[in-house]
Amino acid sequence: MTYRDWLDVFIALGADRVATCPNCARGPIRWRFAANDDRIGFGVIWCEACLKGARLSRVRIPDRFDTLPISDIEEFSRGVPSIDFVED
Ligand SMILES: [Zn+2]
Repeated sequence: MTYRDWLDVFIALGADRVATCPNCARGPIRWRFAANDDRIGFGVIWCEACLKGARLSRVRIPDRFDTLPISDIEEFSRGVPSIDFVED
């Protein structure tokens, strides 16, 4: 499982395709994103089953994802469990 695998999950979900966890294949995949009005922002995606995941920074968040305001970092953090992140 590499960072690139998680990027592929992000790209697939953003395009409304099905994606499974690159670590355990059990999913479901969860996410949390924060962005400005131009939808450039950051976020995390992870697998609810195994709690592996990846951080994304300075990315364009696809329209299908809800986003929080970038200024609301507390609310952002509140929705993210303790995740074992794969580093880029
Ligand atoms: Zn998993």
